[in-house]
Amino acid sequence: MEKAENISIKMPEELKQCIAFHGHLCPGLVYGYLVSQQAINILDLKRSKDEEVVAICENDSCAIDSLQVLLGTTAGKGNLIINNYGKNAYTIISRSKKKAYRFSRKQYYKYNGKNKEDFAMLDAAISSGSATIKQKMRQKLLKATDLLSRPFDDIFSTSKVEFSMPTYAPLARSEVCNICGEMTMSTKMVSTDDGKRICIPCSKR
Ligand SMILES: [Zn+2]
Ligand SMILES: [Zn+2]
Repeated sequence: MEKAENISIKMPEELKQCIAFHGHLCPGLVYGYLVSQQAINILDLKRSKDEEVVAICENDSCAIDSLQVLLGTTAGKGNLIINNYGKNAYTIISRSKKKAYRFSRKQYYKYNGKNKEDFAMLDAAISSGSATIKQKMRQKLLKATDLLSRPFDDIFSTSKVEFSMPTYAPLARSEVCNICGEMTMSTKMVSTDDGKRICIPCSKR
């Protein structure tokens, strides 16, 4: 148990790794941590070295950083797909097992921990716009620890979804842009009316 501002936190090693990468502990990071752990358990996953695990995220929140750390679904490998619908929902796909699960947050956040009065006070301060940075941090910490204390099924619904093989990240050679001269992936280039091959920023100038 670690003490942080009078809140006792049982911090799993995997969550510590997420915090080291992300920079802070917050409810979003915990959502991603919980989803990752659940996906690892039910799909028997190992951290993805290449593209064997694929995550489709329906938001672009802090949660995604936990997925990058724990599942190895990273922005650079092409196995992290972000469809930003503003939903706390994640589909995790295993290519080798040909299985996919979608995890979706069930309900509006409701604090249930033992610092209820404290939480209500902080919530009111935040709603009224008078909260200090320290108060905002404390509220995030209360939320995060509360989420960690709950069973997964309290927070997320889990559903098996139809597996379809996600396409691999595209690989294409680069060409020289006819205007700026910079090397550009050929599939990202635009053809002009006069037959030039140019990059997207040049096409908008
Ligand atoms: Zn965060
Ligand atoms: Zn250009």
